[in-house]
Amino acid sequence: MTGWDPSLVRGQPAGRPGRLRHFVGGSFVDSPDSFPDRSPVTGRILFEVAAADESTVDAAVTAARAALRGPWGRAGEQERAALLRRVADELDRRFEDLVTAEVADTGKPVDQARTLDVPRGAANFRAFADLVTATGTESFTTVTATGGRALNYAVRKPVGVVAVVVPWNLPLLLLTWKVAPALACGNAVVVKPSEETPASATVLAEAMAAAGVPDGVFNLVHGFGPGSAGESLTRHPDVDAITFTGETGTGRAIMRSAADHVTAVSFELGGKNAGLVFADADLDAAVAGSVRSSFTNGGQVCLCTERLYVQRPVFEEVVERLAKAAQELRFGWPSEPDLTTMPLISAGHREKVLGYYQLARDEGATVHTGGGVPAFGDDRDGGAYVQPTVLTGLGPRARTNQEEIFGPVVHVAPFGDEEEAYALANDSAYGLAATVWTRDVGRAHRAGRGVDAGLVWVNTWFLRDLRTPFGGVKASGIGREGGVHSLDFYSELTNVCVELG
Ligand code: NAD
Repeated sequence: MTGWDPSLVRGQPAGRPGRLRHFVGGSFVDSPDSFPDRSPVTGRILFEVAAADESTVDAAVTAARAALRGPWGRAGEQERAALLRRVADELDRRFEDLVTAEVADTGKPVDQARTLDVPRGAANFRAFADLVTATGTESFTTVTATGGRALNYAVRKPVGVVAVVVPWNLPLLLLTWKVAPALACGNAVVVKPSEETPASATVLAEAMAAAGVPDGVFNLVHGFGPGSAGESLTRHPDVDAITFTGETGTGRAIMRSAADHVTAVSFELGGKNAGLVFADADLDAAVAGSVRSSFTNGGQVCLCTERLYVQRPVFEEVVERLAKAAQELRFGWPSEPDLTTMPLISAGHREKVLGYYQLARDEGATVHTGGGVPAFGDDRDGGAYVQPTVLTGLGPRARTNQEEIFGPVVHVAPFGDEEEAYALANDSAYGLAATVWTRDVGRAHRAGRGVDAGLVWVNTWFLRDLRTPFGGVKASGIGREGGVHSLDFYSELTNVCVELG
């Protein structure tokens, strides 16, 4: 990547596609096999990407292990934090390259990459640099059998080689969310970005090298999941921990791989998130918030609302206002300002989402807006766009209301009282996030206990403080990351008990 390249962002490559390579032991390396990375905006090939085989993955894990035996394995917290800050500075310096890469990969609006995805990359490194130097470990004084004292204290040590496997929807944000705490805790990582979004991870590797990250501490392998780089990595016997974000089905497969070596896992998985709009809510805020929570990033955020339950007295009004707002969402070329939506990631994902639009009709849904594909009359007709869609009329057990669609679609249904609202929200195999809109202070606090989800937002959505726990319940994940919860996953704690006499 050599600076801001509008042709990449517009999905219309000016020349021959560039080639993206792996980063192993501090050097970029190639593979004989490769695959094309297509623009979600036009469907054209933007990059040719090296595809790692088992030997490349093994070389990356070996390089990571070797780095842990070197000076990095003895680095203290202050030294690691200083390195993380240098990485953040380097990400700031490469800001425009990262924006180009992220927009080329995903087709998201440039404004969004500039205000959310790319700044969060650097913020993740700074946040965990601060945290690791500010967080102590526990200590207890114990009375011995003879009436003396013993001091217990916990020592935080690196886990070792951490495999980081991430999806395509917020590529840089989710990758750095895991790499930053892993390095803060002194581990070495092998990362496998999604096959759909290899570009910003490649710029990250360049930034790591420029910031002086020791060889082998950060390794990157490109490739697919099953039978490819992802599976080779998560099955590797010398990987000590796996941190994974992606679909619940993939989590199941990785858990089976991890079982062979009893490898620790942290899973951030799928969702079928509910929004609850109570009749006492500020309806302007509730509608605007629900439009954001359902359609941001083309509905491709694990935290997006796909089921909206609205209290009966305001149900009709909310459906009408939501459908109108969805119709007004603006598609454009990613570089245009003030865009409110974007294409899906790929033609394959578009087929899946359109299949759900058809399923909803077959199940008897009313389509208030959307349900199809927009026509542009230009190169974007080769892209992966679908219309933002608002549905009503289905019961809570309909597949449309049970299965994660991961597109710009929301089904709206009425409820009576608070108890019914929680029962409907909880009628799901998933439990990642929920959004509650109400002016009742008591209910605002009750919702946190009433809804089975790892995250409950009240009168807001997607507001994140990096020190807070993040993760899902039920099929939405295992464990929590964020703040000290990340430090706990990326460290081994050894308790030392010293008899004081
Ligand atoms: P995915 O599970 O298909 O792929 C995620 C990653 O796993 C990719 O890098 C892929 O190559 C790899 N992979 C696939 N199969 C594998 C296997 N058998 N072994 C090892 N690696 C494998 O997910 P996706 O389609 O890229 O992303 C969308 C999904 O991610 C949605 O379900 C969404 O809800 C979820 N997600 C969850 C969170 C969260 O924090 N809970 C955040 C973002 C996305």
